[in-house]
Amino acid sequence: MAIIIDGKKIAAQTRAKIAERACLLTEKTGVVPGLAVVIVGEDPASKVYVRNKKKACEEAGFYSVVVELPEQTPQDVLLAEIEKLKADPAIHGILVQLPLPRHIDPDAVIAAIPPEKDVDAFHPENVGHIMIGDYRFLPCTPAGVMKMLEAEEIPVEGKECVVIGRSNIVGKPMAMLLLHANGTVTVCHSKTKNLAEITRRADILVSSVGKAGFLTADMVKEGAVVIDVGMNRNAEGKLCGDVDFDAVSEVASAITPVPGGVGVMTITMLLENTLRAAEAAAGR
Ligand code: NAP
Repeated sequence: MAIIIDGKKIAAQTRAKIAERACLLTEKTGVVPGLAVVIVGEDPASKVYVRNKKKACEEAGFYSVVVELPEQTPQDVLLAEIEKLKADPAIHGILVQLPLPRHIDPDAVIAAIPPEKDVDAFHPENVGHIMIGDYRFLPCTPAGVMKMLEAEEIPVEGKECVVIGRSNIVGKPMAMLLLHANGTVTVCHSKTKNLAEITRRADILVSSVGKAGFLTADMVKEGAVVIDVGMNRNAEGKLCGDVDFDAVSEVASAITPVPGGVGVMTITMLLENTLRAAEAAAGR
């Protein structure tokens, strides 16, 4: 039976350290880390994420603002809002909640966020830093996964790591962090042939597909560490990951639950990035 990796506990420990550093920064320099979250439209899931981010900021002693714009907001109005936040010295991090309405080009919006305030690390300049392994900002979800592995003392070096999913937000940066940690990494996607054969090789298996019940026990090697990044709704409307949790727990040596796994760690790494941006702005 697998050990359940407790994201909430690891997040609480990490957030306590972040809050301590933020407090010290404010004492020494008067700078309070500030995060602006911009949301366009009424997507209920996005609204929950934004609320959680604001709450996490407040608990860590950060300043936070939420800019709420209606669904029909033209792209140039959104870009003008970003310009205002770019010029605001109280704001160290700017995050535009994705997905955006169809009439807005997410790449143009990401490019408009100044790299030194891009706490999601989606700007091509920051993606380049991640690729090189010299991180200004951490890619939040993959960095949260790495933090969980570290907290559980699960070594990556020399391990077979398989990542399912190749998105710019999760799959690709996840592969990069595992590679930087000296894992041997395979990235799978919807065109991968014989997926189960590849996943069964994994010592560390990360699923970021976005389909409930996708990863079944027959796809997992005995003793593997299984990280479930998926955030889906099951037939009853309950939040769940990609992994068939009960069956895979019987095979894996360690597993992350949903909720209470990677999701809380993602917000924690966003706080870390905002603090880094504030520290850099304060010349520390
Ligand atoms: P995405 O952009 O839709 O990417 C999904 C990936 O899964 C794609 O690379 C796709 O392949 C691959 N895929 C789809 N069907 C597949 C199949 N049958 N076999 C193998 N690969 C398949 O999604 P995302 O943004 O990466 O997010 C993935 C999941 O993670 C979602 O549930 C999302 O809500 C969740 N998420 C969670 C957090 C968190 O904090 N926990 C953060 C971000 C995202 P192709 O590239 O070939 O299409």
